[in-house]
Amino acid sequence: MLEVTGLRVAYGGIQAVRSITFHVGEGETVALIGANGAGKTSTLKALARVLDAVGGDVHFCGEKISRIAPHHIVRKGIALVPEGRGVFPRLSVLENLHMGAFIRHDSAEVERDLQRVFAYFPRLKERAGQLAGTLSGGEQQMLAIGRALMSRPKLLLLDEPSMGLAPIMVQKIFEVVRAVAADGMTILLIEQNAKLALESSQRGYVMESGEITLHGESAQLLDDPKVRAAYLGE
Ligand code: ATP
Repeated sequence: MLEVTGLRVAYGGIQAVRSITFHVGEGETVALIGANGAGKTSTLKALARVLDAVGGDVHFCGEKISRIAPHHIVRKGIALVPEGRGVFPRLSVLENLHMGAFIRHDSAEVERDLQRVFAYFPRLKERAGQLAGTLSGGEQQMLAIGRALMSRPKLLLLDEPSMGLAPIMVQKIFEVVRAVAADGMTILLIEQNAKLALESSQRGYVMESGEITLHGESAQLLDDPKVRAAYLGE
């Protein structure tokens, strides 16, 4: 579904992503793990066209998307849940969710998807009228994922959903990520929490200093001595 070839991202003279190649198949959850500063977020931003890549190609569902206008990305079926969530703090939970569906005109289906998001995250239903800015960090993460789902994407890009959250909240968020995946969503998951990411995915890529240094089935990566030493604290 997603084919990334030789992707390069730079900030001025700093090469953040140095020609990486990877793919995500339909229905797969793929993890991209690596230390702080490895280039994971830059990769995701380039895919979502939030920033321009300096080289390489991105194909999505057979179509080249590496040069399309950023506002067309959602219409193509890609939804990004950014690091730091980016909910609209002065809008209610319900309004935030409706913002996620702004490109859609199928109001009956939007309502159905809203109920599906509430089924994934009952907390959001309880807080539907509350201003998003007053939610806890975990609830904002739920809302950011819910809002992304409201665009009915083919591919969900998740940037560090566990960041800054209490362990119990991380568990909750990842339960839903797995449920969304089990319902057929294709997911590219970026995480510093390598264990959680690899336990929640079929395949994984390890990024170091802007390059992919290792890839394979997530179960194998979890057993790999290098991964265990560098990312699983062993
Ligand atoms: P994190 O876990 O912090 O999100 P990451 O693996 O996602 O880390 P990136 O955020 O993609 O890494 O950063 C990759 C490299 O690019 C780092 O060296 C970082 O300092 C640099 N970088 C990121 N954003 C910018 C920017 N806006 N301007 C200059 N350099 C940047």
